[in-house]
Amino acid sequence: MRLHREIQVSSFRDFGVAKEKRKVNYVSATQAGFLDLPKSAILGIIIVCLGLAALIFYKSGTGSEGPVLDVFEGELIWVECANPACRQAYQMDKKKYFEQVQKQAQQRPTSTGPTVIICEKCGKLSLFEAVKCGNPDCGLIFLRGTAGAMDFADRCSKCGYSQTERDREQAARRRGR
Ligand SMILES: [Zn+2]
Ligand SMILES: [Zn+2]
Repeated sequence: MRLHREIQVSSFRDFGVAKEKRKVNYVSATQAGFLDLPKSAILGIIIVCLGLAALIFYKSGTGSEGPVLDVFEGELIWVECANPACRQAYQMDKKKYFEQVQKQAQQRPTSTGPTVIICEKCGKLSLFEAVKCGNPDCGLIFLRGTAGAMDFADRCSKCGYSQTERDREQAARRRGR
């Protein structure tokens, strides 16, 4: 009986320690200034998240050449080169894009940088996903997530238009009717 109680007490104590450790980890993450990161770092984190999401989506398919990518067949995606000497923005096959993302992830499995693939124009590893502004009067092509972590990734830096925002507004209006 007494032994039993001692075990209970010690396991409670262990639990307390584990909880305390978690708290300390959390505090040190915020103390490290995670919330004060410059916009470029936050943009990087978003791109990493998008890349991971794409990767998880890809891996959840069957086999290494997962037919899941076939759903992108015939679709196009905007990309922009961040190499100052190139800065080319162009459309590429969406399926090919995710194949490249997957290839880069395999070649650099420990990479924590943004999802970047090789530019077809300059051959440098500096091509990122981009967005073409949905405002017909604007049409600017910009890197996805330019507006920062707290805003829609497709917010245009020139005219402020966001297709995601517009779609949500329209959906909300339909629900309200
Ligand atoms: Zn380039
Ligand atoms: Zn625009």
